[in-house]
Amino acid sequence: MTIELQLARQDLTWQVTRNESAKSAEEREGLLAAPAFGQQFTDHMVDVCWSERGGWHRPRVQPYGPIQLDPAAAVLHYAQEVFEGLKAYRHADGSIWTFRPDQNAARLQRSAKRLALPELPAEYFIDSLRRLIAIDADWVPSAPETSLYLRPFMFAKEAFLGVRAAKKVNYYVIASPAGAYFPGGITPLQIWLSDHWTRAGHGGMGYAKTGGNYAASLLPQTEAYAEGCQQVLFLDAQEGRYLEELGGMNVVLVTRDRRLITPDSDSILEGITLKSVLQLARDRGYRTEQRPVPVQEWIDGVESGEVVEAFACGTAAVITPIGVLRNHTMRLEMPAAQESVALSLREELTGIQYGRVEDRHGWLTRLDA
Ligand SMILES: *Cc1c(COP(=O)(O)O)cnc(C)c1O
Repeated sequence: MTIELQLARQDLTWQVTRNESAKSAEEREGLLAAPAFGQQFTDHMVDVCWSERGGWHRPRVQPYGPIQLDPAAAVLHYAQEVFEGLKAYRHADGSIWTFRPDQNAARLQRSAKRLALPELPAEYFIDSLRRLIAIDADWVPSAPETSLYLRPFMFAKEAFLGVRAAKKVNYYVIASPAGAYFPGGITPLQIWLSDHWTRAGHGGMGYAKTGGNYAASLLPQTEAYAEGCQQVLFLDAQEGRYLEELGGMNVVLVTRDRRLITPDSDSILEGITLKSVLQLARDRGYRTEQRPVPVQEWIDGVESGEVVEAFACGTAAVITPIGVLRNHTMRLEMPAAQESVALSLREELTGIQYGRVEDRHGWLTRLDA
């Protein structure tokens, strides 16, 4: 073996550096008893380098902490960044599982491609989650409906102000314990229908999970809050007629004749929760439709009694019924559901995730073995 090859091989073995100031068991248990999602993080993180010449190399698990960046790092100027979001669930027997990570891996690759970032091999993605769980397993909470939220992300680290795809990139995984999303029971959402701002356009990067799309949604989201709503719903950028999605969740309508309807367009991020919910509904004999959906169809459908429910879905809140859709010129009140399909699908999906319901589609991957 040449020296160069030996170096390359060594460069691909994981280096693990334990956090000397890791939280004590007592401190950790205190944090897990009331997790402040997104504000507290586990003791370690994953950090893998990529360069144009060397490919993926120097994979590490190291103490959680600040990342050193050159002020000219491309991400700070041109937002060349993508991310993922998934959860680790603790089952009753103590084992730790995640949900369809192959789908997150594939989506991270699609997002990366759109942002001119390198594609991380899927095995590498899943391995990175296992490596973090191997050292931070005690951070996966066990109370009902709690989880450890995993946040893989990748960005352009190269210090260069020229406008082109960066030649140096890093991939990280951090993790934050998450409590039950609705500790006081599920309350239907009030949604603000954006009548001016859009989130993404045809041919843009709406289908990629990237910070830039979120940046575009923050001002409309702020306006929605000011109007007393919890989320904003975007319409298509071209005609302002068709449903797109919420800032970070997909939207679904349920009809009286057992159909689930959800918008289809290249500016929507295809959620893994959405995909799974549509599958579970088909298993129950529902028909599913992914096609352009005019907002007027929803409004008329509620009036005629055809549309009986609407819900939002995504990893964080799983499935949340929509109660009201409104803006300056309209207000649509959803009827009170007799037997909510949304809540029943939510029960089944979380049942699978927490190991209470049979995983008949093989969606779970064990992380701690
Ligand atoms: C992540 C995300 C979703 C939901 O996707 P899941 O895989 O179900 O979590 C929906 N819309 C946007 C814009 C997102 O970033």
